[in-house]
Amino acid sequence: MRKDINNLREESLKYHSKFPSGKIQISPTKKYNSQKYLSLAYSPGVAEPCKEIARFSKEVYKYTSKGNLVAVITNGTSVLGLGNIGALASKPVMEGKAILFKIFSGIDVFDIEIDESDPEKFIKVVKAISPTFGGINLEDIKAPEAFEIERRLKSELNIPVMHDDQHGTAIISGAALLNSITYVGKKIHNIKMVINGAGAAAISCARIYKHLGVKSKNILMFDSKGLLHISRKDLNKEKKEFAVNTSFIKNLEESIKDSDVFIGLSIGGILTPNMLKNMAKDPIVFAMANPDPEIDYNLAIKVRPDVIIATGRSDYPNQVNNVLGFPYIFRGALDVHASIINDEMKLAAVHAIADLAKEPVPEQINIVYNQKNISFGKEYIIPKPFDNRLITRVAPAVAKAAMDSGVAKNPILDWKQYQEKLLD
Ligand code: NAP
Ligand code: MG
Repeated sequence: MRKDINNLREESLKYHSKFPSGKIQISPTKKYNSQKYLSLAYSPGVAEPCKEIARFSKEVYKYTSKGNLVAVITNGTSVLGLGNIGALASKPVMEGKAILFKIFSGIDVFDIEIDESDPEKFIKVVKAISPTFGGINLEDIKAPEAFEIERRLKSELNIPVMHDDQHGTAIISGAALLNSITYVGKKIHNIKMVINGAGAAAISCARIYKHLGVKSKNILMFDSKGLLHISRKDLNKEKKEFAVNTSFIKNLEESIKDSDVFIGLSIGGILTPNMLKNMAKDPIVFAMANPDPEIDYNLAIKVRPDVIIATGRSDYPNQVNNVLGFPYIFRGALDVHASIINDEMKLAAVHAIADLAKEPVPEQINIVYNQKNISFGKEYIIPKPFDNRLITRVAPAVAKAAMDSGVAKNPILDWKQYQEKLLD
C-alpha cells in the first residue's frame, strides 16, 4: 500500500512537471502567421469587433471566445479531501477540471484561483471578472460560505453559475437514486432516508432528492454533532431547512434501523456493519466520502448481499463521478446562452443520466472498461464516464429545459443539427 502511494506520488509529480509545466495552455483558433493576419487578430483590425460589441453587447458571443469559455473559480478553502490548502496550492486541481471540461464537452476553461476567503470580497472579484466568461463553475469552496457565494452570484450575474461540489454531486447521485429505487421496486415517496453529513454536498443532494419525490418527513440528516433537530441552537440556515421536529432525538445507529437509503457525505468508516445489517430489505447505500467511503465497498456487500452501493471511487462499480454531469450541463447552458442554471435544467440532467443507464451498452464501452456485458443492474446504476453518448443526451436535455423554463437567450431551432454539432 505504502509503495503504491509512493509510486503514485512520484508518477504524478513527474506527469505535472514534464515540460511544459502544468496541464493546459492557450492555442490560437485563427490564422496568425503573416502581417495581415496579425493586423486582423490585433491592432488595428481588432478595433472593429470591439466597436460592434460596444454597440450591441450580445455580439460578444459572435466575435470572441466568451460563449465557449468557462471560469473554474476557487479560493482553495475546501480542496478535494485536502481541506483549506489555499488558492495557489489548488491550481493543479483547477487545471485538471479544465482538462475534463475540454475532453468531455469541448469547453475551454480559464482556471482562476482567488486568494480571498471573505465571501463579500470574493463575490466582488468574481463579478468584476465575469464579462470574460460564458459561465462560471465555482469549485472547492468551503460551506457554508459556498451557499451564499453561489446564491449571490446566480442572482447578480446573467451567465450560468454553478457550484459543482454541491450540484454535480446532487445530480449524479440523484440519477443513481432514481435508478436504484426502480431496480429494487420501491416507491420514492415511501423511501426512508438517512443522510450523514450536512455540508455543501449533502444539503444540495437532499434538496434535489426532495424534488425527485423523497418526502421531507422521511429524511433524517446528521452533522458532526448529531441529528439536525429544531431544538438545536447551532444550525445555520441550510441545516435548519432539514431540521426535524420529532419528539425523539435518535442517534445515527437508531435512525438507520429499517431505513431504505443511507447517503454518506461526511467521513470514512462511519457506517458500521451492524448499522447496515439493520437497514430495510434491498438497502441503498451511497457512501461518498473521499477517499475513504463511509463503509468499504467489499465489506458492505459481504454484510448485506442485497445492498446497492455507490461510492466516490473509480476502483469500484457505481462511481458517483461529477464528470458525468458538469461538462454537459455547461455545454447545454452555454449553447442556448442560458442566464442561469435553474432547477429545471438540473432535473433534466438527472433524468437524462438516469435514462441512459437503462439503455443497452455499446460494445465500445465494455472494451474501454475491460468488462463484458455491462448492463443496467446493481453494479451499473449510472453510466460510465467514458460513455460518449452522454454529450448527446445530457446537453440537449439541459438546453431544452433552459428553453422551456424561459432562461435561454439563444434558443436552439434545429435539434438534429445541434446533435450533429455535439458529435464534431
Ligand atoms: P463539507 O461541506 O466540509 O461537509 C462535511 C459534512 O460532514 C459537514 O456537515 C460535517 O459536519 C459532516 N461530518 C463530519 N464528520 C462527521 C461525523 N462524524 N458524523 C456526521 N457528520 C460529519 O464537505 P462536502 O463538500 O459536503 O463533502 C463531504 C464529503 O463528501 C467529502 O468526503 C467529499 O470528498 C465527499 N464528496 C464526494 C463526492 C462524490 O463522490 N462525487 C462529491 C462531493 C463530496 P459539521 O457540519 O458539523 O462540520
Ligand atoms: Mg470539487
